[in-house]
Amino acid sequence: MTPRFAIVFFDVDSTLVTIEGIDVLAKGNPEIVRLTEAAMNGEISVDEVYGKRLAIIQPSREEVDALGRRYVESLVAGAEETIATLHRAGVSVHLVTAGLAQAIAPLATHLGIEARRVHAVPVRFAPDGSYRDFERSPLTRSGGKELVVRDIRARTHGKAAFVGDGVTDLETKPAVDLFIGFGGVHTRPRVRDNAAVFVQDSNLTAVLPHLMSDQP
Ligand SMILES: [Mg+2]
Repeated sequence: MTPRFAIVFFDVDSTLVTIEGIDVLAKGNPEIVRLTEAAMNGEISVDEVYGKRLAIIQPSREEVDALGRRYVESLVAGAEETIATLHRAGVSVHLVTAGLAQAIAPLATHLGIEARRVHAVPVRFAPDGSYRDFERSPLTRSGGKELVVRDIRARTHGKAAFVGDGVTDLETKPAVDLFIGFGGVHTRPRVRDNAAVFVQDSNLTAVLPHLMSDQP
């Protein structure tokens, strides 16, 4: 199989893993779960909820490290095979996520994705490990993923695809050659209705026929 794209971008939460990291950190706080769901469905903007959720949760270094372990244990079926297949074909795989960088890092390592291809939001802790702040990044704002994708594409040659479940992922559609909505964990109606391709399969390998060609 030969790749149709030189670069494939993946969202993380509810795309490569079955969980939403922020909800895990919130330990089921219903207010946080409601804000996340509303943001992913495009009912409220990410700008509005990002800092608000972290300010309520105040995740410690220990909790963020625990989330990193949880991410590795929560891979969507077929996620490892999907990434490995793309890597073997020479595709440059990037993670583009508003997730916390320190929690995403172990997952990226597990999947063989280099740190320079991981685009996430670093969080700062006080010396005692308590939460201090997050680094301001385009990824914490709506339209941020599109900016990050455009920036990478300006430096990298070749066609690109994006795979994601949420409305913030869908925003990258004008910046890539193919946007694939993934509904294996959650089906967001706005994504399903506007994605060029929507994959409704609990196994992520179902995206591969769209990313690879049978032609040698
Ligand atoms: Mg997601």
